[in-house]
Amino acid sequence: MSKTKNPGEALPSVLILGDQLNPNISSLAGKSPDNCRILMVENTSKIESKRWHNQRIHLVISAMMHFADELEKKGFEVDYLKSSTLKDGLEVHRKTYEVSEIIAMEPMNWDGLALLKKLGVNLVKNNQFLCHYEDFADWSAGRKKIRMEDFYRWQRTRLDILMNEDEPIGGKWNYDDENREPPPSDGRSWPEVTLFPLDDIDRGVIDRMPEGWGEPPKGLWPTTREQAQKRLREFIETALLSFGPHEDAMMKSEWKLSHSCLSSSLNLGLLHPEEVLKAAEEAFLNHENVPLNSVEGFIRQILGWREYVWGVYWLWMPKYRENNFLNAKRPLPPAFTENAKTQMSCVGSVISNIHENGYAHHIERLMVLGNLALTAGIDPHEMNEWMWANFVDAAEWVMLPNVVGMALFADGGLMSTKPYASGGAYINRMSDFCKTCKYDPKKRTGTDACPFTTLYWDFLHRNRKTLKTNHRLSRQLGGLNRLKDLESTRKRAKEVLTLLDNGEL
Ligand code: FAD
Ligand code: SF4
Repeated sequence: MSKTKNPGEALPSVLILGDQLNPNISSLAGKSPDNCRILMVENTSKIESKRWHNQRIHLVISAMMHFADELEKKGFEVDYLKSSTLKDGLEVHRKTYEVSEIIAMEPMNWDGLALLKKLGVNLVKNNQFLCHYEDFADWSAGRKKIRMEDFYRWQRTRLDILMNEDEPIGGKWNYDDENREPPPSDGRSWPEVTLFPLDDIDRGVIDRMPEGWGEPPKGLWPTTREQAQKRLREFIETALLSFGPHEDAMMKSEWKLSHSCLSSSLNLGLLHPEEVLKAAEEAFLNHENVPLNSVEGFIRQILGWREYVWGVYWLWMPKYRENNFLNAKRPLPPAFTENAKTQMSCVGSVISNIHENGYAHHIERLMVLGNLALTAGIDPHEMNEWMWANFVDAAEWVMLPNVVGMALFADGGLMSTKPYASGGAYINRMSDFCKTCKYDPKKRTGTDACPFTTLYWDFLHRNRKTLKTNHRLSRQLGGLNRLKDLESTRKRAKEVLTLLDNGEL
């Protein structure tokens, strides 16, 4: 139970932010119930600022409250405040207690860091990643290209993960060629994820949270470290072995395939990347049936992509969020904001999964939602805001490079060497969506033409001048030059964009 200290006793307060929910965070090092108080602030104006996905807002508040409860059970005195801003929360706390200093771990975002510095909070280095952003900046200094692959190999080597002395285990760094299988058509079942029963804290949050979008919370997303560790074990035991081959596949009947569903737990701090990587590596080393391509593919996502995205966010902020290289200005389409009111089978399926779970897996985010937004010219900032509100795992540091950089090419190629634009052929190859769609992925003109295919060519045409120096696009731009029906494709693209804007596509 919480020890209530004399409010007049001068002690340091440890401010714990909503994405730092782990007892091993650096700001708690050396701290005990006897030598500090804990401060947590629920930012009510942020909660009211958007129409959040119900499961997202619930997860964030519930996880904070569960962590506060855990610390209280360890004997800490926790001042859990609901304040309209963090600044107000700190003021109230300072007025209530004799505070010798407020300490916090460096926040996960640029504005948070600036704010805490301004508010006189003493910061300690963030330890929630394996590569701190200052170390990433050192690694990237002087490099012509900041390539994920180079960073990933450096991380594997220096941290000795999946290595045999200086060589990668298996002799290859990359098993992508084994990890791009289309969806299987054998009717197999996919690993289940266990739901966690809602407790009194969860129900209390449901009673007071603002009404949002999407299905109500059902215990899908871990709100405690214990639940997150269970989810990790379950993934390692049931899904890791099939993660690799179907990493890029999409299916109408299956929302997650063999993906781990661990991103929200990692991003809230409930899990540390090191324990996730260790669990995957150990599964490979100890169990013969866990194939290297799956383990390497999974480790690459966390040790490579996740840490890389974190590093480039800090390297390129604050200017990065202003990027709009292709000058995309179209508002978000109703197909995204309403529950799957679209006849595009792929978009409808992904949006209804988001409605149901606050989640879509990587290829759905990139090659369905991102691809449509890119080729239709949707404003990157609108796209970012929408994903931020609706994905359970959203956070600025991970959204900006993925949305602005990887999906929408709004940074002009800092993240990806070419835009991830594609027509319906890619989605047809990697999913079963097209089989039940009213549109034809092979067609680019006519009322039954696939909107992705039409918009792909129109996108290349519209941005021809801007993209012409990009050598990785020369084959596509050559194809555009040879297109006999460019005029009718452009005409259909105009109709498609109007239908998209009106929510009639
Ligand atoms: P798995 O497929 O099981 O992968 C394992 C882990 O690897 C993930 O949990 C995640 O932590 C990490 N990872 C994989 N790819 C990436 C990546 N590109 N960037 C960073 N980490 C990665 N991820 C978020 O955590 N939050 C977001 O808000 C987010 N928005 C995205 C928006 C777009 C447009 C795109 C293209 C990607 C986005 N991603 C985001 C990255 C990725 O899609 C998700 O991390 C992943 O789908 C989460 O599901 P999972 O836990 O089942 O991942
Ligand atoms: Fe999506 Fe086009 Fe396939 Fe329909 S035909 S599911 S719109 S890619």
